[in-house]
Parts: sequence; structure tokens; C-alpha cells
Amino acid sequence: MFFVFGTRRTVAQLAMVVLTCANCRRTAANAVLKTVTKFTLFFVPLFPVRTRYATQCTACGFQQGIDKGQAEQLRQAPPAGGGTNGHAAPGQFPGTRG
Ligand SMILES: [Zn+2]
Repeated sequence: MFFVFGTRRTVAQLAMVVLTCANCRRTAANAVLKTVTKFTLFFVPLFPVRTRYATQCTACGFQQGIDKGQAEQLRQAPPAGGGTNGHAAPGQFPGTRG
């Protein structure tokens, strides 16, 4: 009798935002990534043991760790460029100030 256990990492892209990269100093699209490490038993993922967030520069591939709050903020920021999976938001005009 033996157990096969380990961990498996899955990476999900939460959003695509425009940021200035800390590595290449370019203002480029950055993917907001969520990396979840799950405990597996017989290669079946059971429960998450670690969740990490990061941004990845599409210009140079540099990844920078961020915390969950930052990830949520970036996720709610307007998307970079456009042309994503057809989830185009209806036209929005800048709100009135004050
Ligand atoms: Zn970069």
C-alpha cells in the first residue's frame, strides 16, 4: 500500500492591463496571473495549499509578484487594447466629475 501525493500548479489569467514594467521599463500589456498550487493525491487535485498573484510583462516576460488586493484592483481596471474574447463592454462615456 502506498500513496502517490504531490502538488500541481495551475495558472489562470485574470486580466490584461497596461503597466510600466519594472524590468524593461516599457509600458506594455501585462497579464495578471493567479497561480494556485493544489495538493494532489493519486494525481487528483484535492485542495489549494497556496495561491499567488503576479503580473507578467508581455514585452520581456518578467514576472512580478503582487498581493491579492493589487490583483483585484488590476482586474477591475479597464482592459488593455481590446480585441479580447468578444466580451466588449458597451460604449462608456467619461462620467461627470464632482
Ligand atoms: Zn518587461
